[in-house]
Amino acid sequence: MDIAVCVKQVPVSNDVSVDPVTHSLVRDSAESMLNPADANALEEAVALRERYDGQVIAFTMGPPSAEKALRAALAMGADDAVLITDRAFAGADTVATARVLAESLRRYGVFDLVITGSESSDGATGQVGPMLAEFLAWPHLTEVRRIEAVETGRLRGLKKFKNGFLRAAVTLPAVLTVSYGCNEPRLPTFLSQISANKKSVPAYTNKELGLSPGAVGLAGSPTEVIDTFAPERRKRAELLSGTPEEIAGKILALIEKKRGKDNG
Ligand SMILES: Cc1cc2nc3c(=O)[nH]c(=O)nc-3n(C[C@H](O)[C@H](O)[C@H](O)COP(=O)(O)OP(=O)(O)OC[C@H]3O[C@@H](n4cnc5c(N)ncnc54)[C@H](O)[C@@H]3O)c2cc1C
Repeated sequence: MDIAVCVKQVPVSNDVSVDPVTHSLVRDSAESMLNPADANALEEAVALRERYDGQVIAFTMGPPSAEKALRAALAMGADDAVLITDRAFAGADTVATARVLAESLRRYGVFDLVITGSESSDGATGQVGPMLAEFLAWPHLTEVRRIEAVETGRLRGLKKFKNGFLRAAVTLPAVLTVSYGCNEPRLPTFLSQISANKKSVPAYTNKELGLSPGAVGLAGSPTEVIDTFAPERRKRAELLSGTPEEIAGKILALIEKKRGKDNG
C-alpha cells in the first residue's frame, strides 16, 4: 500500500506572532517543529505499511527550512521525503497549498492513500486535506480516530461523532485527515535519526510542477487574511489579596455591592 503523508512545519506554539501589517505569521524568529497532528498522520501511515507493505512518502510545501519537518518524518519511519519549495509558492492560502500538493503527488507517482493532519497548529483552518481530495478528485474521510482495516480496495475507520464514534468506509484511492492525539506517534531512535539525516531529500520547484504562475502562491490565493486581533475584554478580573479572613470579607463586600446594584 503506497501512502503519501503531507506534513507542515509550524512554529513552536508559544513562539507565534502575527505581523500587524501583512497578517501573516512571523516565522523568522520562531522555532519550528512538525505539526503535531502530522506526527499522528505519519504514525497511521507507518503502521499501515507494517500491516500491508508498500511505502510511505512525506511531502511538504514550504521554505527550504521546512526540510527539518521532512527529516523528522524520515526519522519516524517514512521511506522518502519530498520538499516542494519555490518563492512563487509564498503567501499561499489553502486553495493554492492544496493545488500545489495535489500536483506534486500526481507527478511523484501512484498512491493508494494520502493522509494529512486534520488541522495545523498555526493556520488551523482544517481545509487542506479536503481540498486536496477535491483537486485529486478522490473521496475523503475527515477527523479519523482509528483505521480499522483495508480490504478489497476499501478502507474502514472510526470517526468521532457527537458523544460516540461513527464507522465509515471509503473506496481507495482516498484522502484521510487524522485527528491530533488519535494515536501515540513513535519516537525516532538514535539510528533512525542518523539515517534520516543522511537521506537525500529531493526538492521540486514550480519548474517541475508546471503550474501556471497565477495558480500558485499569493497570485493563486482567493482568500486573504485581512486582520487579526484579540477579542475585546468586557469583564475584568480582580485580584484579591490578604489573609484568608480578609479575602472572605472582600468577597462578601463584593457580593453585597452586586446585590445592592441588582435590587436597584
Ligand atoms: C491566522 C491565519 C488564518 C488563516 N486563515 C485562512 C483561511 O481562512 N483560509 C485560507 O485559505 N487560508 C488561511 N490562512 C492561510 C493558511 O494558513 C495557509 O494557506 C496554509 O498554507 C495552509 O492552511 P492551514 O495551516 O490552515 O492548514 P490546515 O488545513 O489546518 O492543515 C491540515 C493539514 O494539511 C497538511 N498541510 C497544510 N499545509 C501544508 C503544507 N504547506 N505542506 C504540506 N502539508 C500541509 C498537513 O497535514 C496539516 O496537518 C490563514 C493563515 C493564518 C496565519
